[in-house]
Amino acid sequence: MIVGILGMQGDYEEHSEILKTLGVDVRLVKLPDDLEGIDALILPGGESTHFARIIKDYGLEEALRDFSRPILGTCAGLILLAREVLDAPPGLTLGKLNVTVRRNAYGRQKDSFEAPVKVLVEGEKTMVGVFIRAPRIENVGEGVEILATLEDGEVVGVRQGNVLGLTFHPELAGESFFHRMLIESAR
Ligand code: GLN
Repeated sequence: MIVGILGMQGDYEEHSEILKTLGVDVRLVKLPDDLEGIDALILPGGESTHFARIIKDYGLEEALRDFSRPILGTCAGLILLAREVLDAPPGLTLGKLNVTVRRNAYGRQKDSFEAPVKVLVEGEKTMVGVFIRAPRIENVGEGVEILATLEDGEVVGVRQGNVLGLTFHPELAGESFFHRMLIESAR
């Protein structure tokens, strides 16, 4: 099993560390050809406007639109996957998740925080969520399942088919639950 990680910018190394503990092969994706033969893909956190620009510059946009295997997007990765993005310059919306997200909805870097995240699937459990200039999911559309919330019910994790999106960073808490979910759905 090969899991690709968009590897141009952001925290792809932390994702790579988690994937290695799960025994899968990791490939950093930069060019369209790198998507060939991978079983799943991670769009990491970073800066979504920067990602949008380099995805276009590297000619990856169409290949990502056509990619139909499982995807996990965290934070900026979720922003790229969303159907609609608020408070953003015209960027790139892959539209693979029928949600509306607002960029930087909790404030600036200094407003980054950790909070308990309730996972609602596969037997409820709580994990540490690391939120770094996180987006907020403001609307969950048809066909989208809620995977995780804050304690007050705010949605922080969603799934539509084989596409997962999180507003927080499990990879920064050493948390592999969603990576395992991605791998399972690729099997
Ligand atoms: N604020 C960033 C953006 O809008 C996302 C931050 C992150 O990925 N941790 O792209």
